[in-house]
Parts: sequence; C-alpha cells; structure tokens
Amino acid sequence: MTKKVLVVGAGIGGLATALRLAKRGYQVEIIEKNSQAGGRLNQLKKDGFTFDMGPSFFSMSYEFKEFAHDCNIELPFKYVELDPLYTVNFSRSPKTYKLYKDIHKLAEQFKDVEPDFEIKMRRYLKSGKALFDDTVDIVIKENYNSVFSYLLTLMKVNPIHLPILFRNFWQQVCRYFSSDDAREIISLVAFFLGRTPFDTPAVYTLLSYTEFQHDGYYNVEGGMYKIVEGIVEELQKANVKITYNTEIVDYLSSGKKLDALVDQNGVKWQSDIIVVNSDAASFRGKIFKRPRFSEAKLDKMEWTMGPLTIYIGLKCKLPQVEHHNYYLGNNFKDYANKIFQSTGTIQKPYYYVNVLSRNNPDCAPEGCESLFFVCPVPDLRFKKNWDDKDEIVDSIIADFSARIGQDIVPEIISRTSYSPIDWQNQFNLHRGSGLGLSHKMMQIGAFRPTNFDEVYKNVFYVGASTVPGTGLPITMISSKLVVKRIEKMKIS
Ligand SMILES: Cc1cc2nc3c(=O)[nH]c(=O)nc-3n(C[C@H](O)[C@H](O)[C@H](O)COP(=O)(O)OP(=O)(O)OC[C@H]3O[C@@H](n4cnc5c(N)ncnc54)[C@H](O)[C@@H]3O)c2cc1C
Repeated sequence: MTKKVLVVGAGIGGLATALRLAKRGYQVEIIEKNSQAGGRLNQLKKDGFTFDMGPSFFSMSYEFKEFAHDCNIELPFKYVELDPLYTVNFSRSPKTYKLYKDIHKLAEQFKDVEPDFEIKMRRYLKSGKALFDDTVDIVIKENYNSVFSYLLTLMKVNPIHLPILFRNFWQQVCRYFSSDDAREIISLVAFFLGRTPFDTPAVYTLLSYTEFQHDGYYNVEGGMYKIVEGIVEELQKANVKITYNTEIVDYLSSGKKLDALVDQNGVKWQSDIIVVNSDAASFRGKIFKRPRFSEAKLDKMEWTMGPLTIYIGLKCKLPQVEHHNYYLGNNFKDYANKIFQSTGTIQKPYYYVNVLSRNNPDCAPEGCESLFFVCPVPDLRFKKNWDDKDEIVDSIIADFSARIGQDIVPEIISRTSYSPIDWQNQFNLHRGSGLGLSHKMMQIGAFRPTNFDEVYKNVFYVGASTVPGTGLPITMISSKLVVKRIEKMKIS
C-alpha cells in the first residue's frame, strides 16, 4: 500500500524531500505556516521591485543537478556562475578588491599588501582541496546512527588532517597569509556559515576551495526564488498538495508512534511518516516538549548570527556597484569577537550588499535598482530590543553612500527591513538565528540533532539544524540523507 508522508514546512529542505519522496511513489502532502513556499529562501515583491529575502547565491551546484537527476526532471531553474565571486571594501581604504576565481588575476589585487600571494593562495587552496577530498563524501554525506559510528567514520579520515581539528578558521588562514587584508578577505567565508572565523573550526577552510576552485558561486536567473517556483511546479505535476497558513502547534501520540500533529486551528494531521522541516532543535523543544531541547537548553546551544536585512528600491542605477559586495570596517577581530554578543545599538556595522537588478533587469522598474543588505547582528538572546532598527538601518545606508561616493537617500522609493524578531516570527527561527545551529565540533555530525526522531519511529527531520548543516546545497544533501533513512525504514 502507498505510504503517506506529511512534510511540515515548505522550506527548500521540505520541498526537496517532498519531491524526492513523491518520485519514489510515496503519497506526499506539505503544510506550511506562511502563505508562500520557500522558508528563508524567499522573495519580497514591493513597489514594483523584487528582492531575494535571504540566500542570494549558492555553491556546490552539482547538488542541485543531482537532485534533478534523482527526481528524473530537468533542473527547473537556470543558474549563472559568478566571476568575480564578490567584492570587498574596507573602510580603511578606497580600494575595492574583486575576488576573481583566476588565482593569477586575484593575486594582482594583493600585490601591494601580500608578497607572493599567488604562491600562498595556491598552497592554502591545496590544503582546502585535500580536506574536501578526504571528508566531504566520507563524513558529510553520511547518516550516523550513533556517536560511535560517527567516530569510527572520523577515524577513516586521513590522519594528516588531525592538527587542523585543534585550530579555528582564522588560525589556519594566518598560517598562510600575513597581511590583514588577505587574512580578513579569505576568512570572510566563515561568516557565510553564520559565525566568525574565530569560532568556526578550521576544517571549514575547505569552503575556500569550494568557492575559488572546486565549483564557485552561482546566481539564479530572475532571482533565487526561481528555485522555489520551479520545485513547486514539479510538486504540482507530482500531485503533491501544499496547504499554506497552517502552523503545527501540538501533537498526539501513543507509545512509539506519533499519531497526529495538531495545527493552530485544532485540525489533526495524520500520516504514516512525518518529515519535519521546521528547525530540528527547536521543534523538538517547542512542540514535543523534550527536556533536552527546553528553552533554557536551546539557549545554551551555539546559534548562528541573527540577520538584519534591508530591502531598498532606488529610482536610479548604481553602475559602480557589482552584484555581490562586502563592506568591512577596520576592527575585524574586535568586531567579530563582540558582534554576536552585543546588547545595544550596533556601531559601524559590517554588511553585505546584493544588487539583484544588476544582472536581472526584471527585478526593478526601468532605470531603477533593487538592493538587498544583510548585516550580521546578535540573536535575540543578546540584543532583545530592536526599537533602534531604523537608526541602525540609517547608519548602514549612510556608510554605503559614503563608500560608493553617491548619496542614495534621496533616491530611495521603497524601504523595508527585517530584524531578528521578524525572522524569528516569520519562520520560527530560534531567537531569530538566521542559519540555525552553528557548526562547532560538538554540533556537527552525530552531535547535531539527528534526522530521525529519538522517540517516534515515524518522524524524521530535514533542514539547516539537522545533518549535515546549513546553506542551500547542504540542505539539498540533508534531503538526500533523510530520504535514505525513510527508504531504509520501508525495507526493514
Ligand atoms: C539572511 C540570510 C541569508 C542567507 N544567504 C544564503 C546564501 O546566500 N546562500 C546559501 O546557500 N544559504 C544562505 N542562507 C541559508 C539558507 O537560507 C538556509 O540554510 C536554508 O534556506 C534553510 O532551509 P530549510 O529548509 O532548512 O529551512 P527554512 O527555510 O527555515 O524552512 C522551514 C519552513 O518550515 C516552516 N515552519 C516552521 N515551523 C513550522 C510549523 N510549526 N508548522 C508549519 N510550518 C513551519 C517555516 O515557515 C519555513 O517555511 C541564508 C539565510 C539567511 C537567513
């Protein structure tokens, strides 16, 4: 008999899992708290502008290709490789670095600050490649049934990498580069994982290899939301129904089986198998009331940055600004050490700016520009009050205007901002943490909340806070791993 699957949450993890399962013959249904699919991979349409709300590029494009192949479909969106990957500007200098994938061309940018940059970068990337080759397939793309099986797997990794386990990202980068500019730029990718280079394990320097050499970064034609639209269309073809504005708030169980989930209107949702795409740690705490994931225990875990995001429509063009840009200050270490724990108004924030309309003219009216800012800020455990949001946004806009040599304030015709409070409330993100649980050693592999439930045999998890971790391609891997588990359950 066809097994019924209920997926709770229409984020990229939930959507991908639903399609993989539907294509395997399961009868799948999705429920989603919000009125549109995508979760954090979402879009804001306002005043004639289209903005990517969260993710603005992705790496490891082959994970999307694998997904399409697994589902026997054409990839339902088109992506474009980025080169330069992004630009970086420090407040200490008018120079803007362009991060080219061609290492020789990249080295030109550093010739005045970092002698022998090209040789150093090639050595650094060689070590990242070795880490990637020796860990990604064996460690990251695997399910673990116990800490023991995880440790056994780790023992298979080439022992040459052992010393790296005792370093952080920054320490590893400092072994190769000596200038502040090179160190800070190369270690920026740690922020993409939602923490800082000072508390991100050095094993993640393999990401430098993925960004510069292995596969690079990609944009989606027409904006990132095309990924969601494409998968939703495929789900419709596969007869998967999505019910929106439906939030799970409670459950009913008997023994080792979850009988039903209950939504905000008291409606009971029953299914043979349930896949939870809501945050794997906080769902266990808030819905299943597990003591290990109580509010106090969740607060003691290490979470990624809270995002302050700003969506600006301008009635002019900004030809001097590239598609992806980072604006950093002069106090990198001090800033990184304090930013995620500060409680008051944030002074001189570091931020990222995406000009979606630069390569996607349909995302802004003619002659206009659509800008998206992300500023990493403390989550709501630390900075609870966001009454100063507009003040912080004004300071970011003023800083950006000064950096690009053009006052954008008189050009603004659309302005929206989301603090961690909005991110928390819209997507049920614990304390507004943007990327879920961090990737410290004790929160990865078998130490991360598992993708199977500890109590109910028919409940599974997919997404950023379960294995393997956060980011779009990694969430695609998460969907592959959970489907493997469900398939195994069917066989056994
Ligand atoms: C500002 C920002 C920028 C980012 N930039 C990038 C980037 O450039 N590249 C990249 O690869 N990644 C990026 N990320 C990370 C990426 O967005 C996430 O890793 C990924 O989208 C997580 O997907 P998910 O399916 O795990 O979770 P989600 O997207 O959070 O989906 C979970 C879904 O479940 C729903 N839900 C929650 N609780 C319930 C409930 N009780 N009942 C019903 N539904 C529920 C939510 O509404 C949501 O739709 C960024 C994230 C943020 C916040």
